[in-house]
Amino acid sequence: MSETSIDAETRNSRVAGAMKGFSQEIGALSAFRLESCIHCGMCADACHYYIATEDPQYTPIWKVEPFKQAYKREASAFAPLFRWFGFKRAVTADQLAHWQHLLFDSCNLCGRCSLICPMGIDVASLIEQARHAMFDAGLAPEELHAKAEHQQRTGQPEASLEPYRDQLLAIGEKYAVSLPLDATDVEVMLCVPRTDIEHYPAAVAALGRVMQHLGVSHTFRSDALVAENYGYYSGGQDWQRSISLRLIEQAIACRAKVLLVPECGHAYTALRWEAADLYGKALPFKVMAVTEYLALALHGGSLKLGKAAIGSVSFQDPCQLDRKGGVSAAPRALMQAMGVQLHEMENNRSFSFCCGGGGGVVDIERAAPLRYRTMEVKMREIDATESDSFLTGCSDCRHTFDDARRHFGWNKTPQSLLELVAQSLEPTSVPP
Ligand code: SF4
Ligand code: SF4
Repeated sequence: MSETSIDAETRNSRVAGAMKGFSQEIGALSAFRLESCIHCGMCADACHYYIATEDPQYTPIWKVEPFKQAYKREASAFAPLFRWFGFKRAVTADQLAHWQHLLFDSCNLCGRCSLICPMGIDVASLIEQARHAMFDAGLAPEELHAKAEHQQRTGQPEASLEPYRDQLLAIGEKYAVSLPLDATDVEVMLCVPRTDIEHYPAAVAALGRVMQHLGVSHTFRSDALVAENYGYYSGGQDWQRSISLRLIEQAIACRAKVLLVPECGHAYTALRWEAADLYGKALPFKVMAVTEYLALALHGGSLKLGKAAIGSVSFQDPCQLDRKGGVSAAPRALMQAMGVQLHEMENNRSFSFCCGGGGGVVDIERAAPLRYRTMEVKMREIDATESDSFLTGCSDCRHTFDDARRHFGWNKTPQSLLELVAQSLEPTSVPP
């Protein structure tokens, strides 16, 4: 439904809902952050949306302006004065419709602005909180809302011709690799990016092959196959919780000691940093990204790698793994063990730019023109490395770059680090 076709009553109730949501989301920490901004503008220079457009509306802290207005009018110490004297005007429905664009279409929740802010303001977290209020007011983008609703109800973000469970089994058969399903008493529970099921089945096979090589008991679970969390993208916290709970309950049911997050950055954030809060207590297992798990296995001697059949590469550090999770040494250790000649991008590790598709942006159709414009920042950096190919440890990054390749006629094909590891396993150690 377009904004113009929504009647006035609905628009007003959405504004009221969003303002209520904004003020409810504002805790002491958020209020402190909002008050700390010195308007230095450094976050603008950190954000690829601003860099690509030089449009001030894409300044990160500006994206939470309605949040600030709600705070000043509803929750700050001087709220009655702000309301009485009209120092902060009430947010309108048109403004909120525009802020849907700023909070969802033009933010990847990548956290680069948070890293650079001299006042330590976690702008990306504020944007995430503002998304919660927008969702509660019925203002999440349709695509994200629909996928989140479908996923919390069925376990899959979308209906597919064949259920993902059957597709997983078919991948196992096609690639002749064991992908155990619904086992119990295992060391590791696996899940898979839906992006890999749909676009990169070889990456799913690679995960199975590597686990087989390590000789660690493992399983996928039919009731919790998908790693992504569209509740997180859409701002729907209840749905985020129920999607995380599917994975948590299945990991408990199979008594896994580790829930292994595949190559999916946002799934890592949702499970590693946010799931325990939503669950209400500490998780009775570890959450690890596959890259860090493999680097530990390499260090411990159970992962044995030969030389990779690849020339020079650049590496796309997924924001959620590196900037938020500190997983930067692990992929480099794996590449070094495979003899990969790494050409670093100008901004790498924690300072890496987002691929442009994160935070659900790649799923929002109307956001595509701006996304392409923004991606050019990253593509220029990749081209400047003059590497033969480039790798990433996130299938959503890969999918976003693949889309850019088609859109721009770009001559770079993103590849999966996990697939390269699977191709480089010492042959003698792979069980028949
Ligand atoms: S970098 Fe921090 S202090 Fe500076 S404008 Fe942005 S949020 Fe405010
Ligand atoms: S989180 Fe990333 S995309 Fe969003 S405002 Fe900050 S730097 Fe820009």
